Amino acid sequence: MHSNNMAADTLAVHAGEHHPDGAVITPIYQSAMFKFAADAEVDSLKYLRYNNSPNQIALQEKLAALERTEAGLVCASGMAAITAAVMCTLRPGDHVLAQDGLYGGTLALFRDELPQRGIDLDFVNKDDRDQWRALLRPTTKVFYCESLTNPLLHVADLRGIADFAREHNLLSIIDATFTPPCNFRPVDAGFDLVCHSLTKYLNGHSDVVGGAVLGARAIMDSVLKFQKRYGATMDPHTCFLVQRGVKTLVLRMERINSNAQQLAHWLSEQEGVAKVVYPGLSGHADHQRASELFRGFGGILCFELNGGFEVASEFMRRVRIPLAAPSLGGVESLLTLPAKSSHAGLSEEARRRMGISPSLIRMSVGIEAFEDLRDDLAQALAAVG
Ligand SMILES: *Cc1c(COP(=O)(O)O)cnc(C)c1O
Repeated sequence: MHSNNMAADTLAVHAGEHHPDGAVITPIYQSAMFKFAADAEVDSLKYLRYNNSPNQIALQEKLAALERTEAGLVCASGMAAITAAVMCTLRPGDHVLAQDGLYGGTLALFRDELPQRGIDLDFVNKDDRDQWRALLRPTTKVFYCESLTNPLLHVADLRGIADFAREHNLLSIIDATFTPPCNFRPVDAGFDLVCHSLTKYLNGHSDVVGGAVLGARAIMDSVLKFQKRYGATMDPHTCFLVQRGVKTLVLRMERINSNAQQLAHWLSEQEGVAKVVYPGLSGHADHQRASELFRGFGGILCFELNGGFEVASEFMRRVRIPLAAPSLGGVESLLTLPAKSSHAGLSEEARRRMGISPSLIRMSVGIEAFEDLRDDLAQALAAVG
């Protein structure tokens, strides 16, 4: 039996596991609805969209144990999780503070959907408490941020945001997708709700899309109510796959953290590499804060080659191990050009202001051998150099 004060390594394996008929792992319950007693109350009704089927419960328990929250909810995607977390408390006339430079999907949700629902929004600087105070209104309800931003890996004043939210009675919500719970536990920093795209590190195998919201029972009841109505539920087979993926989370993250740290260091010493962005490097603007908050700096790093876009795209063609593909957080290394993918919708000028040049390459570092990744990047650098 596990207990919830055990280490993440142990919880990832044992928390939330159910053993019907002595099964060692929680089997897949491929049933949309479940029988109830003839005199049962409507609240005891079990149905997939109500998120109370055995595979959903098992995964929710495992994730809540890892984030050390009372409750959890799994959703059909990371965006479904973020939508449920943000929208469940907001009403027309309310106001939201959100960190600027959010993940593209979240930015689109906030910028395009919130105003249509009569909800006001201000994007704020990640560190400027005076600005937060100046923008605060009597109607402000939510402060939303990310633990590490895409692709330049800024780390906001996360403790400051959680404290500010508590002081002003705001719901603090954090997207912690880039920092799975073995690297960082947002509730320890004071956050109310934690969102994850399970598509990324928690599942870790690039084979499902999913999301989760974790938090205290009372607020999670509102998130669940929203999800029941909007219907973005996770099916049992996907729950099973994520449940399996999470078991190796800590092992994968140890390798990923160490591969990324070593690659970032190695890249920063190569001729032909103009710049490396990784919060584990002492030259990163938020390195000190990341060191205080995180255990491991994650698997995303960015670098810029001398010579602009042509050189960067030739480099992408020359690498043999990492695939050129969107998304992140799997066991295999992936490369993207943010200017051509996640940030393609912005003007070149807007990208330049954010620090995203046409030749910036983002790498999601996998669990391959460091030496093989290093040698592969070296041969690709030599070929374009
Ligand atoms: C991928 C991602 C999302 C969205 O997740 P989906 O599972 O694709 O819906 C949200 N936030 C961050 C930081 C992400 O990387």
